[in-house]
Amino acid sequence: MGNQEMLILVGHAWQCPDCRRLLLEAPDKVLRGRPLSAEQRQALTALRAEHFASLADLAAALNVATGDLLDAMNHARSRLRHF
Ligand SMILES: [Zn+2]
Repeated sequence: MGNQEMLILVGHAWQCPDCRRLLLEAPDKVLRGRPLSAEQRQALTALRAEHFASLADLAAALNVATGDLLDAMNHARSRLRHF
């Protein structure tokens, strides 16, 4: 399973304070029904506000390349789709 779904999801959380808060406070609710691996689900559930201090911190927390996260943030879905 690729990282695209996780990257788009977290890319939106980076850009949208409301959805970021939802992801941090109720990750189970946000992640339910999404096509994510167990590892991706675990990494997203473990995110804390401090991981959003910089894009590099966020990428490191998810074990992905910062450039891949940046690409996902430029994806239309990550800009438009709220959780
Ligand atoms: Zn949003």
